[in-house]
Amino acid sequence: MARRKKIYEGKAKDLFEGPEPGTLVQYFKDDATAGNGEKKDVIEGKGALNNRLSEFFMMGLMQIGIPTHFIKRLNMREQLIRQVEIIPLEVIVRNFAAGTMAKRLGLEEGTALPRPIVEFSYKDDSLNDPLVPEEYIIAFGWAGQQELDDIISVALRVNDFLSGTLFGVGIKLIDFKIEIGRLWENDYPRLVVADEISPDSCRLWDIETGEKLDKDVFRRDLGNLTDAYTEVARRLGVLPSNVTHTPTKPTLIN
Ligand code: 5GP
Repeated sequence: MARRKKIYEGKAKDLFEGPEPGTLVQYFKDDATAGNGEKKDVIEGKGALNNRLSEFFMMGLMQIGIPTHFIKRLNMREQLIRQVEIIPLEVIVRNFAAGTMAKRLGLEEGTALPRPIVEFSYKDDSLNDPLVPEEYIIAFGWAGQQELDDIISVALRVNDFLSGTLFGVGIKLIDFKIEIGRLWENDYPRLVVADEISPDSCRLWDIETGEKLDKDVFRRDLGNLTDAYTEVARRLGVLPSNVTHTPTKPTLIN
């Protein structure tokens, strides 16, 4: 039996050819990187937790009518997704100042913003994903004006959903990043939420204590990343039954 063809190797995920045209298998690795790959480690259990958490969030979005690339979870580390044309933008929504925004504006982390703010980075590791104004997006043709308006509205709906869901389990959504893909149907592109939604791509703080439950734990050496992600999964009721005994290689599907 031939091994599935890997079509993309990312820092935290790989993509393989799917069983049917138009589908892919997204494999969640245990690799953690920060600072554009400068800091690297393998965190046992991270891939399985992110696979499960991303499934949970994507399913929730679909239940409130926001289309995503997600089809189904296949096993502990893999999910079946629709193949989409990724728009080369990181769509970031911020509710509280943190990270690069706090640094850029000299704001204390955790400062409430007057309203949710959507910003865009151009996805290019060699440039460190630079922040770009909307005008660049239109001028360079990364997305059209109508698409951009739709992306902002989807991002804000995702923010409402995630904020509410996480608030219900005592977690404050500080900010997050999503990626948007075009799904072509009869020559018309439909925008869908793609990539992943997990503690790798969100800032999550415990409402009571302010404890960080996201990738900043790794970026800033604040403790055990698996414990933090496990806590998020536990609160949301999506803890995988056995995080530690996970397959380390992609499994073949027929
Ligand atoms: P910041 O711009 O403050 O570094 O990040 C804002 C939010 O977007 C954070 O929740 C962060 O985790 C997420 N984010 C920004 N860039 C990336 C990225 O390249 N990969 C991932 N997984 N998340 C990102």
